[in-house]
Amino acid sequence: MMATVFEKVAIIGIGLIGSSLARVLRGQGLARLLVALDANADHRRQAVELGIVDLATDAMDQAVTGADLVIIAVPMGAYASVAEAMAPHLGKGAIVTDVGSVKLAAIRDIGPLLPEGVHFIPGHPIAGTEHSGPAAGFAELFHGRWCVLTPPPGTDETAIQRVVGLWEAGGSMVEIMDAGHHDRVLAITSHLPHLIAYTIVGTATDLETSLQQEVVKFSASGFRDFTRIAASDPVMWRDIFLNNREAVLDVLQRFNEDLTALQRAIRWGEGDKLQELFSRTRGIRRSIIDANQA
Ligand code: NAP
Repeated sequence: MMATVFEKVAIIGIGLIGSSLARVLRGQGLARLLVALDANADHRRQAVELGIVDLATDAMDQAVTGADLVIIAVPMGAYASVAEAMAPHLGKGAIVTDVGSVKLAAIRDIGPLLPEGVHFIPGHPIAGTEHSGPAAGFAELFHGRWCVLTPPPGTDETAIQRVVGLWEAGGSMVEIMDAGHHDRVLAITSHLPHLIAYTIVGTATDLETSLQQEVVKFSASGFRDFTRIAASDPVMWRDIFLNNREAVLDVLQRFNEDLTALQRAIRWGEGDKLQELFSRTRGIRRSIIDANQA
């Protein structure tokens, strides 16, 4: 799909993801006018200084009026208020998309507030880092990574294809998926791993000072890899767990059962059970490397 040029693109939230998309749009000349809206004055200033947008504002009418593409890239807790504020300024035929990590909640919070004639194409790039803000973004963030779009049935096909073109311009592979399915898949591949990392790092932090120092000193033994994940943005992750409640609780239940089985195997010295599981999981790592997603 060839990317098409937009007359005016408004990026709502010029943080890690929003600014990376701005760099893609700017770098490839895909927006004649590129405007950022952000509540954070420092981020607005940085975005302009970095030269990745034409204009940065905190006035929704200025950002959105006349835009043929609006990209929502704020934490999901702000979705409903952002959608409500932009609705009166959206023109007929405008495309609204988002990058939020939970898709049923995005549809719930944004969909009903958009006026008729506006096309809503929910999206989620499976790419990111533990850093935040416009200075942390980079155009290559989406290279070789999947982007999932979850347009409800009946969504305008041309609008979908224009959003597909945008992500492909960023180097992504695009998959169209049902929103509920997306949320269940991400609960196990992303949300549960983050919850585990937050738990392990939190447990270590709660241990007394002497042990804490040893934890940092010997972190290369495995702990270090969890600390990178547990350094992810607290607001963004609070919102993900609040918004993907059912799916996360579901996989957490399964995980707890499997953990209890392992606990039992260790208690009863069942080495064959442990070895069998560890051998199976090694295969998963191999297939991730083979799929170029390592
Ligand atoms: P970020 O770097 O923190 O950027 C978000 C920006 O939006 C910040 O400048 C923030 O200002 C601003 N903001 C917050 N509330 C606002 C509001 N009500 N109105 C206007 N601006 C507001 O976050 P991000 O990592 O780019 O994440 C943005 C979205 O992308 C989230 O919905 C997340 O689920 C999704 N996502 C993130 C990743 C990832 O790895 N980071 C990956 C895929 C998808 P302050 O900093 O002052 O709050």
